[in-house]
Amino acid sequence: MATATLSIDLDALAANWRALDRASASGVQTAAVVKADAYGLGITRVGRALAQAGARRFFVAVAEEGAALRQALGPGPQICILSGHMAGDTDMIHDLDLTPMLNSLDQVTRHLESLPGLPFGVQLDTGMNRLGMEEAEWEAVAPFVLEAGPEMIMSHLACADDPDHAMNELQLANFHAMTDGTGVPRSLAATGGILLGPKFHFDLTRPGIGLYGGQPFESSARVVTLSLPIIQTRNVQAGEPVGYSCTWTAEEDALIATVSGGYADGLLRSLSGKAILWDGDTPCPVVGRVSMDLITVDVTHLSQIPRSLDILGPHQTVDELAEIAGTIGYEILTSLGARYQRRYIEGVA
Ligand SMILES: *Cc1c(COP(=O)(O)O)cnc(C)c1O
Repeated sequence: MATATLSIDLDALAANWRALDRASASGVQTAAVVKADAYGLGITRVGRALAQAGARRFFVAVAEEGAALRQALGPGPQICILSGHMAGDTDMIHDLDLTPMLNSLDQVTRHLESLPGLPFGVQLDTGMNRLGMEEAEWEAVAPFVLEAGPEMIMSHLACADDPDHAMNELQLANFHAMTDGTGVPRSLAATGGILLGPKFHFDLTRPGIGLYGGQPFESSARVVTLSLPIIQTRNVQAGEPVGYSCTWTAEEDALIATVSGGYADGLLRSLSGKAILWDGDTPCPVVGRVSMDLITVDVTHLSQIPRSLDILGPHQTVDELAEIAGTIGYEILTSLGARYQRRYIEGVA
């Protein structure tokens, strides 16, 4: 089989949720963000593992993701929709017991008119200028929105991955100014915000990337391993080129392995000539261009040719691969392709 194997360690995922849960005081609830198919790792298995670890509240980006998660989890856990209540979502929100985070006066009106009495939350903009009601809009609607009994008021930090950024304190102050005295449970922190410390935690935290082993959660357990099978090896003589546009030429006689996996699988073309694959503890450099389905690797120095090489594993984390590609771990994870054989590891710990 030439299909590459993506191993997802659900025990490590659960350990990361518990560690982030312990990072806040016992009265603070820890939710789990599983938008974008649980950051590319599979919302059904990831959602179930997190529910088993103790998560009672989940966040997704859009109602359809909420529907998929409800199917995986069954009734009980609260599923919050960050995009709020969009036109066309009403039946899904009602039938599947989803909780929209209302972002605008339009959404407030839609929700309170179409589904009066059904749960909702409110998202406020405290300076990121992306989603949520701004101060003036919130001031105008707050009396009757609070009267309707929101489950939660939330906002999102723009610069939480940089603890020294002045924006963190500014948004914190804005959040206090907009929500103090409302008596409604509040949430401001994602992974980065949790690490900023207790004053950012409020009543509920919303970690995403840290669950999946990504920065800025330095001490997270690694969740993902990606192994690419070697399809073929060949001797390349000094002076011969490898791959599209002949961007690499052997300086000496070399043994080149062609592995299965390429930019169609989320192994970005910007990794060309830069990434390292690993045979256990031994690094093997990528040579030439990353193609759609294939990557060429110099394995001249290996005494035995293995069946596969790892591109994500103990020696190269999602963030390290992202760094080489000039992006962030989030983008590497959510780009992981549909073609992999996905293997979920569970119950080992
Ligand atoms: C994506 C997202 C999160 C999770 O952020 P991480 O940085 O992955 O922990 C939390 N809240 C909101 C509003 C988000 O969009």
